[in-house]
Amino acid sequence: MTSITILRINHRPFRDKRITTHVALTARAFGANEILVDNRDEDLEKTIETVSANFGGDFRIHTGINWKTHLKKFDGIKVHLTMYGIPVEECINEIRNEAEDKNLVIIVGASKVPPDAYADSSYNVSVTNQPISEVSALAIFLDRLLKGRELGLNFQGNMSIEPSRSGKTVRYVPSMEQCVKILKEQGADARIIEHSMQVFEIAAKIAKRSHANLSLVIAGALLHDIGRTTTNGIDHAVAGSAILDELRIDRRIVRIVERHTGAGITLEESVNLGLPEKDYTPVTLEEKIVAQADNLVSGNSVVPLAITVGRYREKGLEKQAERIEFLHKELSDICGVDISDL
Ligand code: SAM
Repeated sequence: MTSITILRINHRPFRDKRITTHVALTARAFGANEILVDNRDEDLEKTIETVSANFGGDFRIHTGINWKTHLKKFDGIKVHLTMYGIPVEECINEIRNEAEDKNLVIIVGASKVPPDAYADSSYNVSVTNQPISEVSALAIFLDRLLKGRELGLNFQGNMSIEPSRSGKTVRYVPSMEQCVKILKEQGADARIIEHSMQVFEIAAKIAKRSHANLSLVIAGALLHDIGRTTTNGIDHAVAGSAILDELRIDRRIVRIVERHTGAGITLEESVNLGLPEKDYTPVTLEEKIVAQADNLVSGNSVVPLAITVGRYREKGLEKQAERIEFLHKELSDICGVDISDL
């Protein structure tokens, strides 16, 4: 499918707000790209846009659409979900094959659906021939169409659920303001905050240039030294990741913080340094960016790469110095410019 659109017809804002919200939420979670609703409903738009802003993805909603014109002009496969249609299990393979490289629109009614929708559709499809909720009809249709793959979708949102057998855990990507508040609440002094701000400025430039996830890089850079509120030793990154884990910060940020020392610490080095035995090498682009931005800042001043690697070499840390140079080159290649010049 090139794209999946849900066309919601005869939506009555005064009566159907809740059920249409559920149609839209199900459409979004089950892999559709957008929902078009015939009658204008700003509240509905706001509700769905807020969910997308928090939980991620790029699902779109538009209300106030002339559905008849839209359906007539629609270039692709048109499916109308109705209890009067062909059983889904009889036509789903054909629809999937036919729609493989085409757009797909799925029509779901709110109140009585006029005959044009039946006539203008490529397929009238039923999910049982009994009257059921449009939410369940849509969910089952999308699940059959996408063969369950939609259940594994990753929305990369600012809020994410950490599945748990009992209890409930929601993790989040903090905004800049929230990061500064967290730093202060944890007792970060002016020195830590100024340093973190400088690292953030460099990291954000590299992130924009390399199309990394900016929200993760910003939060990771601002919080990378939060562990220094409890220790200034080599273990400050581990301490920082523990603080953020406890605060239910998104795991991707926890890992950025945990892996920001130098160009990372290998499993073998972690043992020699007395850290919890683990490989602390930055893996994702965002982890690499924050680690290297930190390597280009000393206190609250930007320093040339040569100064940082020189300090490592003076301490006999040749391998670590080489890794920092390698990381610098890797990120500079991705950015198409020496990251020190950004
Ligand atoms: N009372 C309205 C009517 O007479 O058309 C329909 C209400 S029904 C709950 C709303 C929508 O749910 C329908 O327009 C249809 O899209 C969907 N729907 C209900 N039962 C269905 C079924 N068994 N199979 C597929 N879709 C169904």
